[in-house]
Amino acid sequence: MKRQSTLDYKFLGNCPICSSEFNGSYASQIEKVDSVQTIYVECKKCGSSVVLGVVKNMPGLVTTIGMLTDMKQKDIKRIRNLPPITPDDVLEIHKYLEQ
Ligand SMILES: [Zn+2]
Repeated sequence: MKRQSTLDYKFLGNCPICSSEFNGSYASQIEKVDSVQTIYVECKKCGSSVVLGVVKNMPGLVTTIGMLTDMKQKDIKRIRNLPPITPDDVLEIHKYLEQ
């Protein structure tokens, strides 16, 4: 099977507010740095806007980090100006979760 190099929308996870599964058609990629994709997604159920960091460090293993935002799709240019999520941030979160 050919592995997709683009965003695999089934790994978007769930809304931090209402726990409903994110729908890929509501998602836009903001940027991609190495193995980390930053994605903006709107929850179709509660309308929350979330910026996700999707990390693929190895095949089959995907980590997502959700950050609630008050930005909307039209603000995406503004989101692009934010510091990107880096693999270091992911490491920090892993450390935090392991405590
Ligand atoms: Zn929601």
